[in-house]
Amino acid sequence: LNEFSFQIDKKDKLTKARAGLINTPNGVIKTPAFSPVGTKASVKTLTPEEIKEVGSQVILANTYHLYLQPGTKVIDKFGGFANFMGWKGPTITDSGGYQVSFLWDKGKSGKNGGILKITDKGALFLSHIDGSKHLLTPEKSIEVQNVLGADIIMAFDQPLGIDDSKKKIKEALKRTLLWEERSFKKWKMLEEKRKEGSFQALFGIVQGGESKKLRRESLEFILKMGFPGIAIGGETVGENPKKTGKALDTIVDILPSDKPVHALGLGGGPEGIFEAVKRGVDIFDNTSITRMARTGVLFIYPEDGGNRKNKFRTNIKKRKFKNKKNGLSGVCDCFSCKNFSASYLNHLYSSKELLGLRLGTIHNIFFINSLMTQIRKSIIKGDFESLEKLWLK
Ligand SMILES: [Zn+2]
Repeated sequence: LNEFSFQIDKKDKLTKARAGLINTPNGVIKTPAFSPVGTKASVKTLTPEEIKEVGSQVILANTYHLYLQPGTKVIDKFGGFANFMGWKGPTITDSGGYQVSFLWDKGKSGKNGGILKITDKGALFLSHIDGSKHLLTPEKSIEVQNVLGADIIMAFDQPLGIDDSKKKIKEALKRTLLWEERSFKKWKMLEEKRKEGSFQALFGIVQGGESKKLRRESLEFILKMGFPGIAIGGETVGENPKKTGKALDTIVDILPSDKPVHALGLGGGPEGIFEAVKRGVDIFDNTSITRMARTGVLFIYPEDGGNRKNKFRTNIKKRKFKNKKNGLSGVCDCFSCKNFSASYLNHLYSSKELLGLRLGTIHNIFFINSLMTQIRKSIIKGDFESLEKLWLK
């Protein structure tokens, strides 16, 4: 059963940052690492070869979306979504819980998709594609994720918003514990029947909003159950790096060193990444890095003027780039920066040429991946703190 393991190569002396290796049946993930999101088995605008070329080791796909389209019958024929899309390497799926709760929060309902009700049994919802009715339960989520075939899968939970009331948090947490336990049981059952080389590591999800007590209870439960990994979810690891840090601080002292920690949808750019990594986060995903690229918001390195204040971002559609003959960045080694001028990128975005979206996506993923490589190297060399200072001075 050594198809999945986690080892720490080096721990930072001053913080909880760690450089490690997650071994999966489909390859190794060197951590800390970023996982781009391929919601519908596609990282928008890129081929699997390009996803690798920009330095990605792993991708995450969404259970909710793939379950509705193309559906498990199609994906089962390929032995999983990785084969279906031609990706060779480790993969992750989420449980669908986030999408379901997102619909619930928006109060959307009707033909165009939405939640009819959430009970202890599961979430009854309408497809946003054709209005058909579906019941997503913890058992169903694990079954679907089993067909999707990722190396790392997530327990079905009910995520929370950061501003939810104590009562709502308590209710959702109680349900999440129940759902996580049922996810775990279903996963164990499927594990007994699995073929060699197809181990899926089920991660338990820590919830509890900002409440220290509830978060610790949630993590303690996951550790007691024996999940192979830990995921941290909810809006608490969202766009605000300070809030992310605060939420992680409530559990950092009881995070184990023998299990990988995944931050679901970690936002906040480089600042958020440093806050999470120094509290023991090993891997994270985020859709906004690629979504921003498609709107012209591109990352800039400290050497190019990126800082806390501008959140390491610029908009390539700005006038100042119209006549810039040099690349967007003076230091970036990505395909886009090495081959094209900022002026040309500005033109592609301004005239809505599809190539612009591709080149921007390549740059943004490369940027985050190269930051993760720098972070990993700095932890191993013992100068993580000076790297953080260089970026967040
Ligand atoms: Zn670049």
